[in-house]
Amino acid sequence: TLKCGIVGLPNVGKSTLFNALVGSSIAQAANYPFCTIEPNNGIIAVPDERLNNLANIASSAKIIPTQLEFVDIAGLVKGASQGEGLGNKFLGHIREVDAIAYVLRCFEDDDVIHVYGKVNPLQDAEVIKMELLLADLDSLRSRLPSLEKKAKISPEANDILKISIDIISCIENGKLSPRSLITKDNDKMIKNMQLLSTKPFFYICNVGESEINTGNNYSDLIKFKEEDIESVLVSAKIESEIASINDFNERLSFINEMGMNSSGLDRIAQCAYKILDLQMFFTIGPKEARAWTIKRGFFAPQAAGIIHSDFEKGFICAETISYNDYIHYKGENGAKDAGKMRIEGKQYIVQDGDIIHFRFNV
Ligand code: GDP
Repeated sequence: TLKCGIVGLPNVGKSTLFNALVGSSIAQAANYPFCTIEPNNGIIAVPDERLNNLANIASSAKIIPTQLEFVDIAGLVKGASQGEGLGNKFLGHIREVDAIAYVLRCFEDDDVIHVYGKVNPLQDAEVIKMELLLADLDSLRSRLPSLEKKAKISPEANDILKISIDIISCIENGKLSPRSLITKDNDKMIKNMQLLSTKPFFYICNVGESEINTGNNYSDLIKFKEEDIESVLVSAKIESEIASINDFNERLSFINEMGMNSSGLDRIAQCAYKILDLQMFFTIGPKEARAWTIKRGFFAPQAAGIIHSDFEKGFICAETISYNDYIHYKGENGAKDAGKMRIEGKQYIVQDGDIIHFRFNV
């Protein structure tokens, strides 16, 4: 499962949101800094209405959405990279995640202390970015001496050394994000270096309850000043209310009453999908309708391997129906009769929404 870390300065509503996200109350929401100490992990189902539509047509007995893991990472304050607050622990946990969501406080509330005295999401975002950059600078510099030794005998270490030096000067220059150094060729290598500032990230703007559909001046500031970066509007308060409603239909009507199209959690999951460049394919049958997560560009055997490694090893072909065809011809038989079931081979790049039956040798 891919992991998305949730970070933010203290008192921005991170725990409230995380609790809502996992629909439980492992992390204690409280009005003082450093209250969540250990990272909390929660697995959430990634909602996708296509899966429900497919399950309806196939009368599947069970619906199994795909999952994303969220990790509530506590302890980000100015100086975290220097080990202030819960710094070091924080940095260790955040290295493990695939993407990062920065929760930014965009709500006014005099009862909730702001660590720097005043609501200022742009500045908060800068503090977070800076801490991640400083932490990377620190770890890259300390790795240099041993890398230099290794680079003399290993071409691989030499590549890492080169990119390390580039990232260091990029951070020192302070103009571009180290993410701008990522290319198709070095993508894997950079990922393995477990840096923080090269991870994909997005903003979660936590706005007041009445501002959830419009946003406010603070969230607008983020949207316009940081236009290259995805941002999602949520109200942590509303989300925790939604999470407290058990009945699915009651939830939906509450969401509608608030004038929202989908819950903030849905939007967060969708945004994480987008920045991680993820897609879904489906396996649909009378027993279950199931969604699977793949990276964009996966070949059919790689997608099969997500279900089971044997599927990948013994891969023969992928019987594939596009989502629109499946819906239009009302299911597998209809699509088959219309000639819309394709037999795809090893070179097929799976498309978002494909319905697939894998054939494989055991
Ligand atoms: P964390 O330190 O970022 O994890 O923040 P918490 O989730 O513990 O929230 C800190 C305080 O802010 C708590 O008293 C929450 O009830 C309050 N809070 C969280 N989200 C909102 C919000 O959207 N609006 C308002 N008014 N208060 C909030």
